[in-house]
Amino acid sequence: MKQYEVVVLGAGPGGYQTALEFGKLGARTPLIDKSKEKVGGVCLNLGCVPTKNYLESAVLVSRLEHFKSSGLRLDYNGLNLGTLKEKTSALITEIRGGVLWMKKPLRSTERLLVSKAIVGAGAIACEFATFFNSFGARTIIVGRSPRLLPNEDEDVSKALARVFKRSGVEVFTSATVAQTKTEWNCR
Ligand SMILES: Cc1cc2nc3c(=O)[nH]c(=O)nc-3n(C[C@H](O)[C@H](O)[C@H](O)COP(=O)(O)OP(=O)(O)OC[C@H]3O[C@@H](n4cnc5c(N)ncnc54)[C@H](O)[C@@H]3O)c2cc1C
Repeated sequence: MKQYEVVVLGAGPGGYQTALEFGKLGARTPLIDKSKEKVGGVCLNLGCVPTKNYLESAVLVSRLEHFKSSGLRLDYNGLNLGTLKEKTSALITEIRGGVLWMKKPLRSTERLLVSKAIVGAGAIACEFATFFNSFGARTIIVGRSPRLLPNEDEDVSKALARVFKRSGVEVFTSATVAQTKTEWNCR
């Protein structure tokens, strides 16, 4: 039976960085994850990487609007969410580098909902609100906290509230959701 001084459980950013550090110190450090689909953790498979890739498209659309008003003649013909999903999965695979793992498909519809309610007012909620709003879905944020981004400085919350107001995201703070109901009215 092989024996190790250190074994790291979980191949998310916390785990692989820890394993790397032990490796640098000369310890043979196995990195174990409970399934191939999970290697890379939430960050790579469902969190930071996919959301930032989605947001890049949203940012580009906002910039198109900006440059149109500066005289550039650009046409925007909507978003193919299926293609964006495929590109994002390809990116995840690419980042995976030499490590073998399987990618988990993103949970989403092929089409954008006409309207979207985001529950929560933290960073992840605000990112998703930005994404859906940029692609024309009527977007509301409902948060229990008295302001957006309650873990950040108040001036950051105020600045984001102004941006959301300008871009049409409706914000409800100090509010709780009593009931949810999804109507699959897509486009
Ligand atoms: C939508 C979204 C967007 C995000 N955006 C950002 C961002 O922009 N910036 C940022 O810094 N953070 C972001 N985060 C947070 C970030 O994803 C997490 O902070 C990060 O993934 C935590 O890393 P971790 O290694 O601690 O845990 P995880 O990423 O959760 O990894 C834990 C790993 O351990 C494995 N595991 C669990 N139990 C066992 C077991 N018993 N045996 C073996 N393996 C096990 C799991 O399979 C998993 O691979 C985001 C999160 C979400 C959900």
